[in-house]
Amino acid sequence: MKVDIEKLKGIVGEENVKDNVADLYIYGSDASVHEALPWVVVRPKTKEQVQEIIRYANAEVIPVVPRGAGSGMSGHAVPIDGGIVMDLKQMNRILEIRPQDMLCKVEPGVVDDDLNRALKPYGMFYPPTPASSKIATIGGEIANNASGVRSVKYGATRDSVLGMKVVLANGDLVNLGSNTRVEASGYQLDRLIVGSEGTLGVIVEATLLLTPLPKIRCLATASFNKLEDAGESISDIISSGALPSMLELMDNVAITAVNKTLNLGLPDVEAIVLFEADGKVKEAVDYEMKIMKEICERHNGFGIEMSYDAKERTRIYSGRKKLFAALSRYKEGLSCTSLADDMAVPNSKMAECARKIHEIAERNNVVMTAYGHCGSGCMHTKILMDPTKKEQWEDAKRAVAEVYDYVYSVGGTTSAEHGIALSKAPSWKKEKADSLAMMRAIKKALDPNNILNPHKLQDAPDDWVTATRLRYPVRA
Ligand SMILES: Cc1cc2nc3c(=O)[nH]c(=O)nc-3n(C[C@H](O)[C@H](O)[C@H](O)COP(=O)(O)OP(=O)(O)OC[C@H]3O[C@@H](n4cnc5c(N)ncnc54)[C@H](O)[C@@H]3O)c2cc1C
Repeated sequence: MKVDIEKLKGIVGEENVKDNVADLYIYGSDASVHEALPWVVVRPKTKEQVQEIIRYANAEVIPVVPRGAGSGMSGHAVPIDGGIVMDLKQMNRILEIRPQDMLCKVEPGVVDDDLNRALKPYGMFYPPTPASSKIATIGGEIANNASGVRSVKYGATRDSVLGMKVVLANGDLVNLGSNTRVEASGYQLDRLIVGSEGTLGVIVEATLLLTPLPKIRCLATASFNKLEDAGESISDIISSGALPSMLELMDNVAITAVNKTLNLGLPDVEAIVLFEADGKVKEAVDYEMKIMKEICERHNGFGIEMSYDAKERTRIYSGRKKLFAALSRYKEGLSCTSLADDMAVPNSKMAECARKIHEIAERNNVVMTAYGHCGSGCMHTKILMDPTKKEQWEDAKRAVAEVYDYVYSVGGTTSAEHGIALSKAPSWKKEKADSLAMMRAIKKALDPNNILNPHKLQDAPDDWVTATRLRYPVRA
């Protein structure tokens, strides 16, 4: 290992440098299938400390992987070249809340739910909110351009970021963006950092656009005996001009997993659609709900139940929120893996895409599920497989390739919100073939020594099974 531990301790203090094997294992994986141990973990508390660490790493050409909660699903924070993992969770101060300007300024380690709890007394919220909001940090969300259940109405992270302070690979601190809702002052460099997955700079402060909290919310579920009917309902709701604040799909695999794990007693049907409207006055919310209900009924949706009650809404939504963990309980021996997990397809292809996922799974000896924030075009799937069997990885690889062949054939994209990192890079490189050179030029210009989260995105290996270590004991 060629890292000067004493030097790092001098920057952040002894208690904030971890290099025992147990700690390195904890920081060696995230919510993906990959694993690789860092040489050392540092936990800075200030932007000046971040600058010093980066300056040192750049001079010595040591990889640095910024890390929030480690909930990324494609190996984002896995340090495949070793080096320093920079845990930013201690930089978790909310610096300013300015309701009149509809903005707040935060450090990158602030957890999404904590921020929204702090904003509530001001009658404001920060909308991107992924299902992982209990742990996901604002820095990780910006670096992944995360989105969530309410993005169908309020947009993704990129729509709620006004500006940021970023430490570049040479240690310089730059201010990007502005404090205003509109800005046409040259290159939109803050936008370049959104979705850059820790490869272009370390976000040390963010200025976020806030939205007034709606006064009323109504959530409903509709059951469907045919998956296609559920998909068509979602497409029609969006193209009707209705304004859902949530529009989610759960197929039968998801329903079964949730019922096994959470005992919610969801109906045993091919699919459930969750739809929600929010607003200032009940009449407006009722109007949106009526349109959506009628569309579901037109597509044979039944058993439609609605609730304005916050507790009941939380109960109904809990199945969807906890789905990722629940999927590993679907069938004894099968684990839930994130491989082709969050593509986006055009609105009209939602139903077809859901069905394709099941056909592809059947052909390739794995179980797959169709669910997600389908209202915003995002179709989730997970591959449920026995990760200890070598042949299952070959099955999964074929399934992933088929999923993306389909997605690209209908004009979709690799990732709606979880990002690319390692697992999705081989397919994504095909989708973005004509802009890879541009991306490599940007990376080279901003990080000539390739120290920031190296070998991810455009520089990731082409075979995620053989080129990285998997965090499962795979038998031949
Ligand atoms: C159960 C579950 C549900 C999820 N649901 C959703 C969902 O609904 N929507 C969604 O979008 N995602 C979802 N995710 C994926 C993930 O939670 C999000 O992408 C989240 O934004 C990652 O945040 P994090 O703090 O865990 O980042 P990490 O996983 O720690 O890091 C993610 C990437 O960001 C970089 N990074 C982190 N902090 C910084 C920083 N300060 N500066 C520069 N780069 C940085 C890292 O290097 C890495 O490349 C889910 C994950 C799980 C496990």
